[in-house]
Parts: sequence; structure tokens; C-alpha cells
Amino acid sequence: MIEIKNISKTFHQKKQAFKALHNINLTIERGDIVGIIGFSGAGKSTLIRSVNLLERADEGQIIINGKDFTKLNSKQLAHERKKIGMIFQHFNLLSSRTVFENIALPLELDDLSKDKIREKVNELLQIVRLEDKAHDYPKSLSGGQKQRVAIARALANDPYLLLCDEATSALDPATTQSILQLLRDINHRLGITILLITHEMEVIKAICNHVAVIDKGQLVSKGTLSEIISNKENPIIKQFLNSGVMTIPQELNKKLQKEPQDGLFPLVE
Ligand code: ADP
Repeated sequence: MIEIKNISKTFHQKKQAFKALHNINLTIERGDIVGIIGFSGAGKSTLIRSVNLLERADEGQIIINGKDFTKLNSKQLAHERKKIGMIFQHFNLLSSRTVFENIALPLELDDLSKDKIREKVNELLQIVRLEDKAHDYPKSLSGGQKQRVAIARALANDPYLLLCDEATSALDPATTQSILQLLRDINHRLGITILLITHEMEVIKAICNHVAVIDKGQLVSKGTLSEIISNKENPIIKQFLNSGVMTIPQELNKKLQKEPQDGLFPLVE
């Protein structure tokens, strides 16, 4: 279980202070797929980066499986981070390394034997269905294939948690669906908890059990997708639904159309 407790973060730039996160509280159950949704600049990246302390919060605690990450020293933290995989919008692959070598990177840092590394990378290539691309370089891959490599690399140390930072934002809709399907399979088959951030309701709809809405650094709503959308009185959710940035699933839209509220409709699918 992951507990984000009272997390606040202020950035200081050019003598100006900017509070990016205000007292965020969120609990993520083991095996869950939780989506954090919000407009650009809302604080989503800062929040997800706070979970593995890539970003150090000024206040609050991150408690994972009973362990307070905010109290760990850098060596302990480096050890704990191995069990938290992270994937990014722009894949972050090393262009001078093949697919195989990119995936092997975290294992090499662990000083495993060459045979063990080969065995593990082959297993990961199978999971992401890229067995035939092992010796290709990233430049010859499509965006979806690059993200599959990044996912395999994130799984190398058998994580219990995957943090996904806009993992499908650079992909077309069909590729997005296939990457989300892969994440769902990984969650289902390997029991890995997933915390993802996105500005697209379609992503939430495709795989998330729970949703947290963040705006201007504040958690404005949390719950299941239908709970969030039925929270029609909330001005931020209203704004999201009207903006078209976060579109609403068709079946849910139909359900809501039966009981329209001022300013909420028509919604974009
Ligand atoms: P999101 O992921 O929702 O787009 P971010 O978490 O990236 O939002 O950013 C939230 C706010 O914090 C933005 O206004 C951003 O400019 C600011 N911010 C993020 N990182 C830094 C930083 N390292 N220094 C200064 N301001 C930052």
C-alpha cells in the first residue's frame, strides 16, 4: 500500500516562490491502477516524482508498505527505488544501445552474470512482445515499440509499483490503446500496482480503477471514474468536462445525458 500523506512542495525560482503541491493526501491499494488527471501545470509530475522522491517534498510523508520513504538515507532510497519502475512520455532510451542493451541496463548495474542478464532480458522481451527487435537500435523503432522497450526496462528489477508519467501522450490513439492494454496485462499477470498521470480521460477510462483529480496543486476529487464524473457540482470537474481536454467515455456520457446539468453538455467523445 502507498500512502501519500500531506505532501506539499514549493519551487523557488528567481527569488520567487511557487507552491506546486498543497497538502496532498492519497492512498493507493496494492494491485490498483490509479490515474491522476489534471491540466498541464497542475502538479501531476511533481506529485508522481514525489512518490519515489525524485522530487523531495517540503512537508509530508510517503509511506510504502509501512516504510516511510521520507526518512530514508540516499543509500536506502537507491535500494528501494529499484523496486519502483518508471516510464516517461519520451521513453528515455539510450540511442547508442540496442533494445536488448537498453533493457539490460538496470541489471548490469546490479552486477548479474551475463547468462542471468540474457535470461531475464529475453523474458522481458517476451512480455512486451519485442523478441524480434532485440538487436535493433531505438531509431529504427516506432513510438509504441520504444515505449515497450522502456516498459521492459522498468520491469527489469521485478518492481511492485510502476509510475507512468504521461506514458502515452506522444503516441497515436491506436498505439495508446495497445500500450494501455500491455499495462493492464502487466498489472493483471504480474500484480504490479500502477500509478499514472495523464491529461486524457480516455486513458483513465481504459485502465484505471481509481482516479484523483488535481488542479493548481490541490487534490480536488478522488474516487472511481463514475464517482468523479458524477461530482457535477465541483467547478474544476465541470471545467474539465467542458474543455474537451478530458473527454468523457461514451457509455457514461449516455448515462449522464439522461440527467443533464447546466453547463455540462454536450460533451466531447
Ligand atoms: P503537470 O505535470 O501537471 O503539468 P508539473 O508538476 O510539471 O505539472 O508542474 C507544476 C508546476 O510547478 C508548474 O507551474 C511548473 O512550472 C512548476 N515546476 C515544476 N517543476 C519545477 C521546477 N523544477 N522549478 C520551478 N518550477 C517548477
